[in-house]
Amino acid sequence: MNRKLIKPGSTIGIIGGGQLGRMMALAAKEAGFRIIVLDPTPDSPCVQAADAQIVAEYNDEKALRMLAKRCSVITYEFENIDYESLKKTAGFAYVPQGAELIRITQNRIYEKEAIMKAGVRVAPYQVVTNEAELNTAVAKIGYPCILKTARGGYDGKGQVTLTKESSLSETKALLGHGPCVLEKMIDFTKELSVIIARNTAGETSLFPVVENIHHDHILHQTIAPARIEDSVKEEAQAVALQVAESIGLVGTLAVEMFLEADGTIYVNELAPRPHNSGHYSIEACSISQFGQHIRAICNWPLRKVELLKPAVMVNLLGQHVAKAIEQIPLQPQWSVHIYGKKEAKHQRKMGHITVLTETIEETLLSLEKSGVWQDVQKRSEAAMND
Ligand code: ADP
Ligand code: MG
Repeated sequence: MNRKLIKPGSTIGIIGGGQLGRMMALAAKEAGFRIIVLDPTPDSPCVQAADAQIVAEYNDEKALRMLAKRCSVITYEFENIDYESLKKTAGFAYVPQGAELIRITQNRIYEKEAIMKAGVRVAPYQVVTNEAELNTAVAKIGYPCILKTARGGYDGKGQVTLTKESSLSETKALLGHGPCVLEKMIDFTKELSVIIARNTAGETSLFPVVENIHHDHILHQTIAPARIEDSVKEEAQAVALQVAESIGLVGTLAVEMFLEADGTIYVNELAPRPHNSGHYSIEACSISQFGQHIRAICNWPLRKVELLKPAVMVNLLGQHVAKAIEQIPLQPQWSVHIYGKKEAKHQRKMGHITVLTETIEETLLSLEKSGVWQDVQKRSEAAMND
């Protein structure tokens, strides 16, 4: 493998034009890199922070060859790019992350197998491909449980929660998409995540364990550091390291976990890239997840990650973004990140804010008082009264 230092002034190619690519590009720009993004949507969030865009599908070989010709290194910001094309690209371009992790994380079945191979626990599950198998799996796993398509899901898309009352007919559409996994619903006390970076020399660096609050299966809030015992933090980081070493990670990996009341940790899923729950690191850490990712793929030594100040990150979905912008004059402490997406669709990630704080509880209260996330509050109150 080519372990040459990729120097400032060189060009980095990013496959995928979303907000993760945009924040990678912003971090890379700081160190003097040039950025070319490949994405089918013109004026993508990423190209607004990059030097150029090749407007093409992720599997367009001609476009990938053009990208390779113009770049010293290629990375990706999205796991649903075309695996076969990425594998091929690694044959004619420098793709230090390789394609294998994309193959694994594109399919929940391979992903769970890889996590278990690393010696780490996942929620009890069964692979199901038809209604008969679903019935057998439900009998084995019990209610409540969640059916997820093996491929193509994100932000809760391609999932249905099954309880005693729900009719199995809701599952037809998912099974129609191909193989699924039926998972036991974990009665977690917290959702945690750990982001880890590893470079081609095998050097690793862990970000702090954070606490994630989801609504409608979409990340709403991240609290850094997680409000858990130190021994649980150590275990969560050990789990992330175990997975990263086992898969031979190069680049960035986010490990999503469930924590049960008795301290048991299950890995929920892996993201082979910087992650929404690591956005707080831009302001709160000695290096951001994006800066560290760029260092890892450019064969730079990794920075030691330190949490400089506790932080709360809250997502701005389509229904929040206008209200959040109205708040700018009133909220000098908010770091406002807007991704430059054209249409503020309901539930679409449009941006986020980060607040650095010594008093997490007070900050959570003041965020609530701002009224930006009223829809989320109403729904969680309704759920509590259920
Ligand atoms: P996505 O690819 O959409 O992020 P996830 O599998 O991470 O899919 O599910 C999204 C969210 O749904 C999780 O963060 C969690 O809040 C909830 N969830 C998913 N699977 C389970 C489970 N087995 N038990 C409890 N909650 C779950
Ligand atoms: Mg997830």
